[in-house]
Amino acid sequence: MKCFKHNESDAIGQCKHCYKGLCKECVTDLGHGLACKGMHEAEVANINNLILNNAKSYSTSSKSVFISNLYLLLIGVLFIWFGIKESKFLLAFGALCIVFWLVLLVYNIILFRKLKTDIET
Ligand SMILES: [Zn+2]
Ligand SMILES: [Zn+2]
Repeated sequence: MKCFKHNESDAIGQCKHCYKGLCKECVTDLGHGLACKGMHEAEVANINNLILNNAKSYSTSSKSVFISNLYLLLIGVLFIWFGIKESKFLLAFGALCIVFWLVLLVYNIILFRKLKTDIET
């Protein structure tokens, strides 16, 4: 690819906003992407911020899901604790809670692995 301004120069990259080819003199490197010098720095910075914010909100939401699932484990442990002394019914209910928690945990791990690879690719 050649620079869109300088037909004689090879492009070293593409603007993340307009996808034009840029040579060394026309490029601004913003760390996470290249921009047309003096033209699209702000736009590319916005794109980068959007991507970063998305990645951040995914990782915080994954944490909150794992924490909100923890009450299932707690209830399960509590019921098993009382069930051992009191009744088999409580014991079964507690075991069910823990099984359900494990299923949710595995499901969430698979889901967030998939989201993570979607962000990174
Ligand atoms: Zn551009
Ligand atoms: Zn150029």
